[in-house]
Amino acid sequence: MTPSLKILFLAAEAVPFIKVGGLGDVAGSLPQALRALSVDHNGDECIDVRLVIPFHGAIQRQDYVLRPLANFTVPHASGPIYAEVLETEVNDMRVYLISGPPIHKDAPAYSTDTSVDGFKFTFFSLAALELARNLGWVPDVIHANDWHTAPAIYALSVNRDPFFKNTVTVLGLHNLPYLGVGTGPAMGDFGLPPASEFTRMNSDHTWSELPQWADHIPLPLALLTADHIVATSPTYAKEILTPEFGSGLEDFLRTRADSISGILNGIDTHHWDPKRDPHLVANYTIDTIPTRAANKEAILREFGLKPDPHIPLFAMISRMDPQKGVDLVPDALRQISSVSEPDDQPWQTIILGTGVPTIETAVRRLEVDFPDRVRTAIRFDSPLSHRIYAGADALLIPSRYEPCGLSQMIAMRYGCVPIARATGGLSDTVQDHAQRECSTGFLFSDATSEDLAAAMLRALAVYAEPEKWRSLQLNGMSQDFSWERFARQYLDLYQNLTEKT
Ligand code: ADP
Repeated sequence: MTPSLKILFLAAEAVPFIKVGGLGDVAGSLPQALRALSVDHNGDECIDVRLVIPFHGAIQRQDYVLRPLANFTVPHASGPIYAEVLETEVNDMRVYLISGPPIHKDAPAYSTDTSVDGFKFTFFSLAALELARNLGWVPDVIHANDWHTAPAIYALSVNRDPFFKNTVTVLGLHNLPYLGVGTGPAMGDFGLPPASEFTRMNSDHTWSELPQWADHIPLPLALLTADHIVATSPTYAKEILTPEFGSGLEDFLRTRADSISGILNGIDTHHWDPKRDPHLVANYTIDTIPTRAANKEAILREFGLKPDPHIPLFAMISRMDPQKGVDLVPDALRQISSVSEPDDQPWQTIILGTGVPTIETAVRRLEVDFPDRVRTAIRFDSPLSHRIYAGADALLIPSRYEPCGLSQMIAMRYGCVPIARATGGLSDTVQDHAQRECSTGFLFSDATSEDLAAAMLRALAVYAEPEKWRSLQLNGMSQDFSWERFARQYLDLYQNLTEKT
């Protein structure tokens, strides 16, 4: 059977090859989930989804069976640049790894030097298109993600290659503020002009105006030219149209509002499964949730805090970055301590995270201020994060913006109740205790320590009523955050878009 839909998925990173951030999870999981959906009852594939990533030096080549697939050159102002493509499979899905001089074997996946990354990712984006041509494989959909692969979408508009004339383009928007600033010169060297220059030379082409400052930056150019834009949550898709979240592009994005939608990311429900998680002292399910208490006792002992089931345990597991609002936590903890009588309404807190040194220092200081209550682990520690999700009562997520967020979904799956700012994907996945019947957590509106503290006080009050708290946990644990659910929404979108062409 010939697959009815061909999708080329482009990303700068993907699990299991390389993961630096959440994009790696999405690019590893979504194509696989689409493939799983597309295998029909006879085992035939209805869609053919292929993933293409750069062959970063950090990818352990000995872990994969890599076959040479194609060699070609990518035109550049200084002369053609040679590209080599290796092919492998993950669960029978084809994966293409592109290498060439701009993708240095001894360089990290991302550099702090924008010219290095601009050169690398523009080369990669154009090589991915050239690969499809070289294979004679015409994708129905090119799904590029974030600024790194945005040049592929822009290039299709600029070059108008007949090979791709029926291909629709989808831009996955995972974090708007990362626009790819500084990539203009590299794009120019690869034959991708600023939008204004292109429209001047092609008077038949009418594009709604990008702000002048954005007209040679890859993400805005793909926002301008993609057939469709998918933000990683329905709320974030609306928020980016406002000055608070629009990174200066909100007026322009409003002109594209009809082509913007939001689809949540899923979580890997096999990896994040309290029933089988090998990192826990006691595995549990929604039916055996009282067993969870052993994990709380274990994590408190591990951190040298008093193991007392009556004391609520707050936790935080996060990058220490202003985006995440970690800096609001110290003041919020001080506020809930001055409001509540210490003996009356005790609490404990464990914070795991690493990032901006000043935020790390402020968080560490809490251990001095609250020696009996607060412990911190300033590092990235995945097994520890599992133990904390399984042991803590509530997870603090005071993000200033949150395109989707995974930690709230993981927390709910583990019976750890999220206390989150009502923004982006947090709004779409957490149902506030006060407002919904099937509530799963606590939401607050402003990114201030006062609002966070008020939500924590609400949580403390509910924690004092164990039945109510238990129903919050059970509601959270019964949510479906599997990739299958969200991959179905992507498939519907691809089908709608390709039917229109
Ligand atoms: P973002 O991708 O913006 O950092 P998400 O909520 O989407 O935020 O995903 C964060 C992921 O990283 C979650 O799986 C969380 O458990 C994990 N994480 C964050 N900080 C740490 C840490 N210090 N140690 C272990 N895991 C962490």
